[in-house]
Amino acid sequence: MDPCTQVVWFKRDLRVRDHAPLLEAAANGPVICLYVYEPSLLRSAEWDASHSQFIAESLQELSERLASLGGRLVTRLGETVDVLERLQQESPFQSLWSHEETGNDITFRRDRAVADWCRARGVIWTQFRQDGVVRRLHTRDGWSERWDRAMSHPVLPPPLRIASASPVASDGILGPVQLGLGPSAKTEAQRGGEGEGSWTLERFLEVRALDYRRGMSSPVTGWDSCSRISPYLTWGCLSMRSVHHALRERLATLAAERSAGLPVDRRWFDSLRSFGSRLRWHCHFIQKLEDEPRIEFENFVRTFDGLRESFTESDEGRRQFEAWCTGRTGYPMVDASMRCAQATGWLNFRMRAMLMSFASHHLGLHWRPTAVFLARHFLDFEAGIHFSQAQMQSGTTGINTVRIYSPAKQAIDQDPDGVFIRRWVPELARVPLAHLARPETMSTSVQEQSGCVLDRDYPRPVVDHATAYRQARERLQSIRSLSATRSEARRVLVRHGSRKGAGFRFLRAELEERGLTGRDRIDPAASAVRQLEMPM
Ligand SMILES: Cc1cc2nc3c(=O)[nH]c(=O)nc-3n(C[C@H](O)[C@H](O)[C@H](O)COP(=O)(O)OP(=O)(O)OC[C@H]3O[C@@H](n4cnc5c(N)ncnc54)[C@H](O)[C@@H]3O)c2cc1C
Repeated sequence: MDPCTQVVWFKRDLRVRDHAPLLEAAANGPVICLYVYEPSLLRSAEWDASHSQFIAESLQELSERLASLGGRLVTRLGETVDVLERLQQESPFQSLWSHEETGNDITFRRDRAVADWCRARGVIWTQFRQDGVVRRLHTRDGWSERWDRAMSHPVLPPPLRIASASPVASDGILGPVQLGLGPSAKTEAQRGGEGEGSWTLERFLEVRALDYRRGMSSPVTGWDSCSRISPYLTWGCLSMRSVHHALRERLATLAAERSAGLPVDRRWFDSLRSFGSRLRWHCHFIQKLEDEPRIEFENFVRTFDGLRESFTESDEGRRQFEAWCTGRTGYPMVDASMRCAQATGWLNFRMRAMLMSFASHHLGLHWRPTAVFLARHFLDFEAGIHFSQAQMQSGTTGINTVRIYSPAKQAIDQDPDGVFIRRWVPELARVPLAHLARPETMSTSVQEQSGCVLDRDYPRPVVDHATAYRQARERLQSIRSLSATRSEARRVLVRHGSRKGAGFRFLRAELEERGLTGRDRIDPAASAVRQLEMPM
């Protein structure tokens, strides 16, 4: 028995750099570096073979990096508590080290079970904060400053040396096929790994970010203009702090060049600052789930309950859902976005928002099944961001401006030459540009000439845009105008709202005007917040 054995439990932190649990464990004794393939997660509706593929690539690199430091990666297939129990029998340990995780309900319940197990076995489980998300947060006041402080800590180096604990068996690196998920169907997915993540970030900061602001909204330019670091953040190949520091260094270099009289394009600064705010958003959204885990399943504002459920479960609803999932809605921009997400695992923000908004508003589907479907296809699925965004785009948060996108307008604005649509919806490849956003406007002869006959090669629109838009607006407005919705929305704003947002500034100003500035005296429900009204 080796009483000093330390177990580092790698979860969604597949790296050696800026890894406090690894560094601390290595300083305390011989280490078992453990990764667990958990059947409950692998079987969940949000999991896809592509996630396992990305993890396998990341684990391969992690294993090599650990080996170069003297460590060894041990993987096990099984539920974590069972794995820990067996490991304890094989190689007794008293210390378990990991990062905190704000995942979905499955990982939340698993973490509780692990905590119970540790208590029962006398194992000390030390968890470190992974990013700017705060556990047991009482108020959002001062959250942003806390985020700044967390990010200002230096990036931790990997341990100089890892002493390996006495060898225990490992299940090796298991890809999706070995895990029974079949091969990943994503033909153009990003590759996992700490090195790939660093390279993607470096290329972005040094080269691609110049056009970030201008290019981020279009799916044509988004692939190059956006950073695409999201999967690396989700699986922890990059830490948020290391991204933040790399950004600060790049900004400092550009500022120094400008001070030295070198020509520096202004767009660098605008783009990089804009990117920097989004890093904060990442944690801001995850904090919502950390503070209120029920939002994974339930509407932020409960007065929206019942809005879409029965239609979603109807035969017609199921047909609409199927058309949306398979990229056959008759709206080329929606279909191209869906097919792109399924082939690459990534989509720029605007197209994600449009896909979600279309499903909820045009098709009238509840956000939960559509969000779960997208979760499976996004390589960067991050429950806190994903479910909050799904609800935002569906209008159930009560505090955000609701946007109902016109897919045809998005096609004209964001894909003016039809490059994106033609690439992902090949049946429209020869449709003239004038009809590409709305193929149903083609005459019979144009359909014949372009080799795309409606109903045979490509569907007509599953719903009429103008009618669906009007009905969605009316339905939402009728709920938003209820006084119960308004007071619930105020609760959401106080609990989750950014203190920098216009809505919150207004609420605070109004409270100040009424002399209700003391924190304990603030009764948000007593105040009217105009910004909560829906400017559609
Ligand atoms: C319906 C819907 C679902 C989404 N699901 C996810 C998800 O599961 N995982 C995820 O990481 N992002 C999600 N997003 C947010 C956003 O679309 C992605 O973060 C972004 O497109 C990832 O690409 P990028 O890394 O190139 O982002 P960049 O624009 O380069 O931004 C850098 C990083 O900032 C963060 N970020 C950027 N935009 C947002 C945002 N709007 N909200 C929160 N964080 C942001 C991400 O961590 C991102 O990697 C979702 C958005 C919508 C509308």
